[in-house]
Amino acid sequence: MTTITEAVPETRSFEADVAKLLHLMVHSVYSDKDVFLRELISNAADACEKLRYEGLSNASLLGEDGQPRITVTLDPDNRRFTIEDNGIGMSEEELADALGTIARSGTKAFMDKIAGAREAEGSHLIGQFGVGFYSAFMVADQVEVISRRAGADTAASWSSDGLGTYTIQPVDSADAPGRGTRVLLHLKEEASSYTESFTIERTIKTQSGHVPVPIFLKDRPDAEPKQIADGAALWTRPKTEVTAEEYKDFYRSAAGQFDEPALTLHYHAEGLHEYSVLAFVPETKPFDLFDPDRAGRMKLYVRRVFITDDAQILPRYLRFVRGLVDSNDLPLNVSREMIQESPVLAAIQKGISNRVLSELDKLTTGDTERYLKIWDNFGPVLKEGLYEDYTRREALLGLARFKTTAPGSEWRSLKDYEAGLKENQTAIYYATGTDLDRLAASPQLEGFRARGIEVLLLTDQVDSFWVTSGLDYEGKPFKSVTQGLADLSLIPLADGEQPAVAASDAVNGFIAFVKETLGDAVSDVRVSDRLIESAACLVAPEHGMDRQLEKLLAGAGRLDTAAKPVLEINPHHALVEKLSAVDGSDEVIRADAAHLLFDEARIADGELPVDPRAFSARLMRLLERGIG
Ligand code: ADP
Ligand code: MG
Repeated sequence: MTTITEAVPETRSFEADVAKLLHLMVHSVYSDKDVFLRELISNAADACEKLRYEGLSNASLLGEDGQPRITVTLDPDNRRFTIEDNGIGMSEEELADALGTIARSGTKAFMDKIAGAREAEGSHLIGQFGVGFYSAFMVADQVEVISRRAGADTAASWSSDGLGTYTIQPVDSADAPGRGTRVLLHLKEEASSYTESFTIERTIKTQSGHVPVPIFLKDRPDAEPKQIADGAALWTRPKTEVTAEEYKDFYRSAAGQFDEPALTLHYHAEGLHEYSVLAFVPETKPFDLFDPDRAGRMKLYVRRVFITDDAQILPRYLRFVRGLVDSNDLPLNVSREMIQESPVLAAIQKGISNRVLSELDKLTTGDTERYLKIWDNFGPVLKEGLYEDYTRREALLGLARFKTTAPGSEWRSLKDYEAGLKENQTAIYYATGTDLDRLAASPQLEGFRARGIEVLLLTDQVDSFWVTSGLDYEGKPFKSVTQGLADLSLIPLADGEQPAVAASDAVNGFIAFVKETLGDAVSDVRVSDRLIESAACLVAPEHGMDRQLEKLLAGAGRLDTAAKPVLEINPHHALVEKLSAVDGSDEVIRADAAHLLFDEARIADGELPVDPRAFSARLMRLLERGIG
């Protein structure tokens, strides 16, 4: 091996975002500083797994040291903490890239998130954003990393006090690990407890006891290493031998989460394909659930060798599931790209997806409360499957839960809905909007309520898309209460009253007048059978888009021209009857009333009047007349 006689230290500045992040870590008041341990161990384990994978195609990388290992060394006298792995290691350039120069996408996202988070949450967020390494600065005022890339003759060091700059330099081979990375922390005074072997052993066992690499602890630099975790893959053990506590610890260290798993899935598939699955549904929402780039979080192993974490193992709408699959049939030496094409992977994907849905389904009756929590968190994501995955629509519709106009505010299933169908009811009715309370108070719902017809109240963005994707439930189509004709005449009112008789000639005359007055602003003005208490409301024309979808697309800049709405008028409303009786020669009041009805219907939909100044002028005129 070559030795470098003249080391040239080179000092560089952290990229701006990294520097900010570090400032945060150094001055951190985060309560849970143990996080740094979990993060450094997770990096060391990742490095060992990467080597195991690269070693498949290049056995010489492993050399004589084929056993992956993580060693933690404590030095209480000098207040030092060292963690060393014999994994893939980093070259000089990789050190600079990974630990300072390139602000990875997670850095900025993390800081945005942390700005709004409570203190106690801060430390819990670190691992989720790929900024784990920097957590070392929560407990250390100087961090040194010495690393040798597998197969390389030379080694390099990275060193920083976390205050804006770092130094990179080649190091003498004799001072570096034979392969892999050594991270040396000069602990802050208040962090000296991290040199107590009892505390460290306990923390590592609970936080990282199930990483797939054995962990050794030396309580002094010259002590014998003691194995404190065996690196046995938890998922290869039979389910009956794994405790809930172990699952939880594994979940936390694998997912970088601090919550409990809401659902744990552990099984071994046999038959055509053999594989093990250990997967979890988190109890809380990950921060990037709706990030369009968010990939799935299922790792792929082949016979216990980590292969990749970006194989699309689950469909997008199950992207909240964390965990891994370990296949016995996939070839070990296949490239990551080829794996994606493999029919074996396709079979595994299908098997796991079905299994996740069927386990969720079991939970709907087995532990309803827990299921509803999952639905509350991930329902909006699962609903994406309604239009993305035709083959599992039925299963997904079965899992779907809704807020509806039914008395009480519980979640309702479509089965519940079906049980309450009214005679002659031919569709499943829904209303889409953004705010549940406002939606529930929409005038368009009055006629449905009066007939005891349940209406689904849909407030997730995704709702506007799946309801229009042409699906039905048990032969009943989904129909918007704000689009087209309501056609409720065949369904009697709930209190036994018959729907009122048709509109009078005077009312019809008034409606024709309103239509003429509003002109181009509306596509039609007509008698409504969906109104009971309100005088007027707006609906979308039968063909085309529902109003909520229009608003969504317009808001996203994806719609140039919106369709003109239909103004529906309640022919039995006292005001409408009075207006219809007004002398035809009093054009001003009738025209004012026509515009006001239209504007008032817009307001009920959460919009502004067409022309706010004209609106208030009309309102004033009418009020004056009313008083005078
Ligand atoms: P993440 O692990 O999510 O990528 P980190 O901040 O924990 O984010 O680590 C940053 C990067 O530094 C890693 O992606 C890896 O490339 C590199 N790294 C950190 N620790 C090690 C290690 N022990 N061995 C090899 N590479 C490492
Ligand atoms: Mg990490």
